[in-house]
Amino acid sequence: MRAHKSALSSAILCALILSCLLQAGCPGPLRPVTEPHGQSWWKKQQEREACITNLMCIGAAKEQWAILNAKHNGDEVIQTEVDSYVKNLPAECPSGGSYTYGRVAELPTCSVPGHALPEAKR
Ligand SMILES: [Zn+2]
Repeated sequence: MRAHKSALSSAILCALILSCLLQAGCPGPLRPVTEPHGQSWWKKQQEREACITNLMCIGAAKEQWAILNAKHNGDEVIQTEVDSYVKNLPAECPSGGSYTYGRVAELPTCSVPGHALPEAKR
């Protein structure tokens, strides 16, 4: 009689715990984390941000090079010389794009769509 009663109460306890879990929507690792855009979207965003940082470095290096070499807007840029002013070399697009330095006062660009500096506020 005693054993029967304890089995019954543990069954009730089990049911209670289960219903609690169901009500809470099974939080934690039981439920897969749903991301609004998926992992590949985040990876792309991170690569894009890293690329834009590189473009900013190239742009800054170009400006520095142009000032130190008395270059004017529209002058052709010597990429190997500008590279010596770029910090964190080699500046490479994490998505495999290639950089075009452009002329003095032009924005450097990446060949990957979406990897672009916002238009300068000049
Ligand atoms: Zn890029």
